[in-house]
Amino acid sequence: MTVGVLALQGAFREHKSTLERLGINAILVAKPAELAECDALIIPGGESTTIGRLLNAFGLMEPLLTKAQAGMPLFGTCAGMVLLARDIEGSDQPWLGLMDVTVRRNAFGRQVDSFETGLDIPALGKDLFPGVFIRAPYITRVGPGVEILCQLQDKIVLVRQGNNLASAFHPELTGDYRVHRYFLQRCLA
Ligand code: GLN
Repeated sequence: MTVGVLALQGAFREHKSTLERLGINAILVAKPAELAECDALIIPGGESTTIGRLLNAFGLMEPLLTKAQAGMPLFGTCAGMVLLARDIEGSDQPWLGLMDVTVRRNAFGRQVDSFETGLDIPALGKDLFPGVFIRAPYITRVGPGVEILCQLQDKIVLVRQGNNLASAFHPELTGDYRVHRYFLQRCLA
């Protein structure tokens, strides 16, 4: 099994090394031929407008949509979550729109630009998960097929829909591999 990490911009190296620590064959994806090798793909954090534009510029948008519609699992973190959402509030940036959720970008506001907090994620066990939020979005609406895996007060920050997973936070920047393991075990099954 090969898991790709979209490597156009953002925190892709950290995802690759997390996958390697879990014993997964991980490759960086910046070309259609690399995407073709993948059984699953992680879309990292970064700047969603830039990553969306580069998906078009590198000829990856169409093949990625085709593979996703054929069932390839996707995991988007932060900007990756924005790209996966069906609706992005107040934006017409290029995006994938594969999960039935609405996101609000930079939603925690300027005062709390970036922060870390313990997250209660029952599907990962009872130990709190170190949630690293960096100019993070959150989800303001979920469709009927979407499972909410974590909320921070009333803000939805981790969801799964079928094979796809999206987090508002950055599990690849922690030493805790449980979200990646969840993706590998539950979304690639
Ligand atoms: N604010 C960024 C965006 O909306 C996401 C930030 C991140 O990925 N750390 O694209």
